[in-house]
This record gives sequence, structure tokens and C-alpha cells, in this order.
Amino acid sequence: MGRAHSACLIKKQGKSRYINHYLRMGSVIRMKVLIVGGVAGGASAAARLRRLDEHAQIILFERGQYISFANCGLPYFIGGEIKEKSALTLQTPDSFFKRFNVDVRINSEVVSIDRKKKTVTVKKTDTGEQVEESYDKLVLSPGAEPLRPPIPGVEDARVFTLRNIPDTYRIKEYIDAHKPRSAVVIGGGYIGVEMAENLHAAGLDVTVVELLDHVVGPIDYDMACQVHRHIRTKGVHLFLEDGVKEITGGPDDLMLGLSSGQVLHTDMVIMAVGVRPESALARGAGLALNARGAIAVDTHMRTDDPDIYAVGDAVEITDFVTNQKGFVPLAGPANKQGRIAADNLCGIDSEYTGTQGSSILKCFDMTVAMTGINERAAKAAGIEYEKVFIYPASHATYYPGAVNMTVKTLFEKQTGKLLGAQIVGYDGVDKRIDVLATAIRAGMTVFDLTKLELSYAPPYSSAKDPVNMAGYVAENVLTGKMKVFHWHDVAALPRDGSVTLLDVRTPVEFENGAIDGFINIPVDTLRARMGELDPKKPVYVTCQVGLRAYIACRILMQNGYDCYNLSGGYGFYKSIFDPSKPTVAMPTHEKRVTAPDSKKIKLDACGLQCPGPIMKLAQAVKAANEGDVIEIDTTDPAFASDIEAWCRRTGNVFLGLESNAGVSTAQIRKAALAAAPAGTPVSYDAKNIIVFSGDLDKAIASFVIANAAASMGRRVSMFFTFWGLNVLRKTENVSVKKDIISRMFGMMMPRGTKKLGLSKMNMGGMGAKMIRGVMKNKNIPSLEELMKSAQESGVELIACSMSMDVMGIKPEELIEGVTFGGAAAMLANAEESDMSLFI
Ligand code: FAD
Repeated sequence: MGRAHSACLIKKQGKSRYINHYLRMGSVIRMKVLIVGGVAGGASAAARLRRLDEHAQIILFERGQYISFANCGLPYFIGGEIKEKSALTLQTPDSFFKRFNVDVRINSEVVSIDRKKKTVTVKKTDTGEQVEESYDKLVLSPGAEPLRPPIPGVEDARVFTLRNIPDTYRIKEYIDAHKPRSAVVIGGGYIGVEMAENLHAAGLDVTVVELLDHVVGPIDYDMACQVHRHIRTKGVHLFLEDGVKEITGGPDDLMLGLSSGQVLHTDMVIMAVGVRPESALARGAGLALNARGAIAVDTHMRTDDPDIYAVGDAVEITDFVTNQKGFVPLAGPANKQGRIAADNLCGIDSEYTGTQGSSILKCFDMTVAMTGINERAAKAAGIEYEKVFIYPASHATYYPGAVNMTVKTLFEKQTGKLLGAQIVGYDGVDKRIDVLATAIRAGMTVFDLTKLELSYAPPYSSAKDPVNMAGYVAENVLTGKMKVFHWHDVAALPRDGSVTLLDVRTPVEFENGAIDGFINIPVDTLRARMGELDPKKPVYVTCQVGLRAYIACRILMQNGYDCYNLSGGYGFYKSIFDPSKPTVAMPTHEKRVTAPDSKKIKLDACGLQCPGPIMKLAQAVKAANEGDVIEIDTTDPAFASDIEAWCRRTGNVFLGLESNAGVSTAQIRKAALAAAPAGTPVSYDAKNIIVFSGDLDKAIASFVIANAAASMGRRVSMFFTFWGLNVLRKTENVSVKKDIISRMFGMMMPRGTKKLGLSKMNMGGMGAKMIRGVMKNKNIPSLEELMKSAQESGVELIACSMSMDVMGIKPEELIEGVTFGGAAAMLANAEESDMSLFI
């Protein structure tokens, strides 16, 4: 192990310098290792090194005050889930010294490396003093720093980033001291989403602004759509494909100018737009870096200097699946690499075999997880891949509490080799993603997934686990038993009769919502009605989740038809194209009540899809006695938006709704003469205005009436349908994903109030201008002002979901504050009104 020296301290020009390479202790030669960075990778390397070499001299330098802290737990301290400060620090310098005999030097920043002399210069961050320290081996684990893009105003003290414990305390103390009411999180990655949840838990009104078309970048857009819906359901506002251009700090709040032209007012900002490797030290020492600034290392975690190792967020990784170089900052890889570096320092030939990006995120009560590569990475690597979507239950559906999860599996077309998986769900997501991550590590194919024998009892899984199911479905595709098409293929399917578009769900399901152009033949009647289908035409089949359509495809294929199954079914398709913004969690008027004289009936509708839960509820209500309380559990996300309107329409009393871990529990009292609970909005002098027209004069008239009624203290709801929706459109162009027809519709129709024409004497827009001028001269509020005052007076603006679907208008294109509903919501309002106007 080279020469042996004794340590000697030379005081020179105010600097302390240790010169010692290997120390001899009795007959043992001591290796001197310096470690830069005392958290995941650094602390891991130090602990392993000590376990392997009791005699090494180990000095760990940490710039900050804390070592071995729980970065991953920081957001939860801000939200209050983690209560004790002490829980954030897993080790202190003292405990680390006692347990591992590691000389921990906090407040010590390594500012340069002299590779020739094999020394580092360390600056004490509290005193400014500089010392030199020699090494035999050096391990760098400096991590990654949060990006702060050069947006004007980003330096405002109310703009925060989150990396370490001092950042966490700064944010928490700001919240405690200033009691901000709102926060904007810039960036919808893992940390952004975690911060949104935790700021929301801390009582703030939270908005997330994300530059891409979806949050949680490592998953694909199609899977992220469910996350968007969930985030919004929880009351967090979400702006996608939008960026913050500037931040203007006023005395009362911050104003964020977005690229779309919108302006957000907020009390504080969390900047969570990603991280970059902290490699200035390595760069200064002339170590090889990649184009992104990550330190280049070999599989032993050695840099291009044989005496310097580097690990963690600062290093370049090799993608386990594609073998391409990349940058994936995660705690698991950092910890493993720290251990591997220590092994190699002690002569153990350990190798790091690549990162596959296994990661998991808690998004309120939802779990989002992924492993391996996504579609973007597969395309970039030129891999020919196929994908399947399944929607299995977390455990046997007959055992209470089963909730479904969406599993997306990517595999190589030629070989079936597993490439990646993404899961969005509520329960059991973690164990499925870990099995799939293990399968990818083991180089398994989707055929192998069918053979995995996984533990099963009804409370935990099904006899065919979701992982097995993913294998079965992919195997069917690869062996030609089932051909698939995907949600993004649907818009391009010909609607000219040259192909058959077939929906095999029940008529009730079909009537509740179906894809444009599809005909309905329920699977159970397909054999009898096959004659209605032309055997010469390809048949594109869908059902709710893809299972009944698979059965239909098998029936048809064996009768000579060329058949394709929509992977993931209508349910998954709808989760991507569904125009209805979910209603924000409803206020619980009364939680879990039972009047002493009433009976409580419990219904379990978990696992049933819309309209299953409503139908089950309707039957139970019919059989119940007046005053009985029906409590229904469902896992159908649409139920939460439907139930209140259904109660109002049927005259039953909606008592409240709670949601937890994917299960919504609602309570309904069968229409009894008992008074509705306090807070239930029942009045029969409300006004209901249906705005069908998109003409300026008619829109003005509608809002004049609405304002007048509101000023008389009446509850007013305005239901905008067909052309009336144009009144609610934002004037600026909002970039949203649309099929061709919807895009054309969008272009041809007036975008917002400023573009509306008059119903008569429009004269190419001259008439509209004249009327606006006259109104201004006569001091009559403009349409925009009328709309604003209506909203301020509590007038409810409801956009018709069905018309939006037909006309291809997306929720993001409508002005803020609009809710979404269907005919049921409109009729419920009408029944509570003494006046309904159709304009
Ligand atoms: P770090 O843990 O960042 O440690 C680097 C340390 O080096 C820092 O303390 C820094 O002060 C110190 N340092 C830097 N330069 C010098 C120098 N010149 N001299 C002395 N000291 C120096 N990953 C997951 O897998 N799952 C999660 O849920 C998760 N959640 C996270 C939540 C948050 C809020 C954050 C910030 C990160 C999260 N991560 C998560 C990422 C994970 O924490 C990192 O991947 C991991 O900590 C990287 O380890 P590291 O040792 O490379 O760097």
C-alpha cells in the first residue's frame, strides 16, 4: 500500500497542513481517506469503509452543519407529517464518531484539490480559515444543487429552494412567521409535487406551474393524466406547458408572469425545477466531466484519477436498460455507489452496474411509481418497443378495500425483454413496482412475468397478481393472440365506414360516455349479433379496461375478423381526454352520521366503474325507508363528482363525502322530511340560466340578469352549453393536446368574450365594436366586467362537459373559476330554482 509516514503538522503562512500518506500503527499500515460530502453517498462510503478497515484514517468534510440527514423527509417536516426536528438527522458528528470512529468536520468546505500533492484545501465556513489536508484516497460525494433559472425577480427573499435542513427551516419559519395564504411551486417533478402536497397540508392555497405537458417527468404523459386529475381534485391548481417568465415583488405579494400571459399572485414561491451536479470542485481539479457537468466514473466509481472516487448525484451514470450515459439523482444509487467506492478502496472488486431509475412518489393518497425506461427514452435509444396498459385490483375484489391501479409495461417487440414499468394507484403499487424493478435487473422478459410465483391471499393480492397479469397481456400481444391499438391512435381511425369501431360494454355504460363513432354491441350478445359486423373490415374494439374487448377480439378473430383491442380501454382513454375537471373535494356537511331512529345501510361499490356505483346506490335507496342513511364506498373517481348532483336531483340528502387512499365514502339520507343538515345549499328561489348562444348581446343580457339576481341575494347558476362555451374561453391561445377535428373547431369558434359577434347587425364585427363603445359611453359595465362581478357575487358558472367533449374544448382553455357539470347538475339547479332561462 505504498510508503509509510508518520503524521506531522506544518504551520505555514497561517495555513495548517497535514502531510501524511499512510500511517503505521504498530505493524498496521493506515490508509488515509478524505470524503467530501457527509450525506447519502459520503456517509455511506465512510460507514462501509470503517466496517471493512478498522485502521484507516477517515476524515469526512461537510460544508454544512448537518451530516447524514434525511433529504427525502424534508418536505414532510414542512407539511407537519414529520414533527420533530431531530427525526431529520440520522447521525450527528458525535454519534458518527462514536459508532464509526470517523473524524467528521462540519462547516468545512473543500475548495480545491491538488492532485499532484494529493492534498485538499478546506475552508472553514464559519471562520474563513483555510487548512490543507493530505490524502491517500479521496471520495467525492458533493451531491447536486437546485437550479435557479435566471428569471428576473428570482432573488426575492420569498422565493425558496429546498435541498437541505437549513432550507427546510427557512421555509417552515417563513410559513410560521408570515402565515402566507398561498404558494406557487415552480416545477412539477418529484420534489415539486411533494412540496405542493405538504404546503397544502400546511394550509396554503397551492399552485403548481410546470413547463412540460405533464408532471412527474420520469413517467409518460398518458400515465401522468391521472396524477393531474388527482392533484386538482385535492384543490391544488395546476398550470401545464407554462413557464414563469418573471417574478415581481410587491410589498403584499409576489406577481408571477407566465409565458401564457397569465399573472399569478402569491405569497411565496418554491423553485423546484431540477438539480445540476455540484461538480465545481472536480472541474477545478481537472477531473473528466460530461457535457452536463456530471463527474465521469468507471464501474468501480473511480474518476480518471485512480486515487479519486466520486459517487452520488454528482456523477454520470450508465442507464441499466439502454446502456447510455445519463444523470439520475436518487438516494438509492448514491448510497449503493458510496458502498461500492468503499469496497474498492479496500480491495474488494465491487462494480456499479447502472441505474434504472426506480422511484416512487406519494401524491396525497395516490402512489406514483416507475422503473426502467419510459417511452421517451425508448424512442431516443431507437428501441422497437410495445406497451400494454392494465387496470388490475390491488387485491381480490371480493375482499373489502380493493382499489384498482393502472400498470403500464414497456417491452422489446422482438424479444419481449422488459424495458420499463409505471404504476399509478392507491394500494399495493410499491410492491408491484419493486417486483418489476427486480425483473428488469434480472433481465427478464414479459414471458417470465407470467411464471413468477408471488404470494397470495385475498387481503393482499389475487391468484394472478397484477405483475402476472401484465405478463399475460404482453404475452398475448407478442404471440399474436391479441393485437392492440392505443389511445393516441383513436383520433386517426377512419370514421367513413371502412373500419368497424365497436364498444362491447353494456348499454348503460355506453350511454354514460363513449368514444366518438363507436357502435355498441355488448360482449355477451356478440356471438348472436356477429352478423351485424362486416368480416371484411378491421374491427377496433374497446370496453372499459380492455378485458371484455380482449374476449370480444378472441371471439371475432376465431371467426375470421381482423381485430384490435384498445389497450387500457375506454377508462384509460377517458382519463387522458376527459374534459371534466374533477370537483374539488366536497365539504363534509356531516361526517359519518346516523340519526338514532334511522337504519344505516352499508354498500361496497369498490371496483365498480361508472355508472355501477350510482346504480347500486339507486337500488339501495329504493329499498330503504325514509330517513335511513346509506353509506357507500367506491373507488370510481367519477363518483365524487356525480353524487351530490344525483342527490339533489332525486331529492335525497347528501350528507358528505370523505376520500382516502382511493376509496370515497359518501353518506346519503333517503329523502325524509327531516331538515337537511346545516350547510346543505337548498333554496327554491334560485335562478338557473342556460346560455346556449355565443352572441355578444345575448351573453351581455344573461350576465345582466345574473348580476341583478345575485344582488337580490339569489343563488344563480349559469350553465354554458354549445356555442355559449365560447363566452367562457380565455382570450389567449392555450396550448393543449387535441385531435385534428377539435383543433379545427377551436380555430373556427370565437376565442373568448372579445371575439364574440352580435346576433344581429354584426357587420363583420363593426356592430360588436359599436355596442361596446355605446356601453362605455353610457357607463354600462362591459361584458368582461359583468362576468367578473357575477363571479365575485358567487354566481356559479358551469361548463357543460358533454358540449366541451363534442366541441373539443379543454378545461385549461376556460377562464378560472368555472366548474364542470352535465345535464344532471343543470337539472338539479333547475329544480331548486323558480326561474330557468334558456338564452
Ligand atoms: P447529498 O445527499 O446532497 O450530499 C451532498 C453533501 O455534500 C451536501 O450536504 C453538501 O453540503 C456537501 N458538499 C457539497 N460540496 C461540498 C464541498 N466542496 N465540501 C464539503 N461538503 C460539500 N431521492 C430518492 O431516491 N427518493 C426520495 O424520496 C428523494 N426525495 C428527496 C427530497 C428532497 C427534498 C431532496 C432535496 C432530495 C431527494 N432525493 C430523493 C434525492 C436524494 O436525496 C439524493 O439523490 C441523495 O441525497 C444524493 O446523495 P449525495 O451524497 O450525492 O448528495
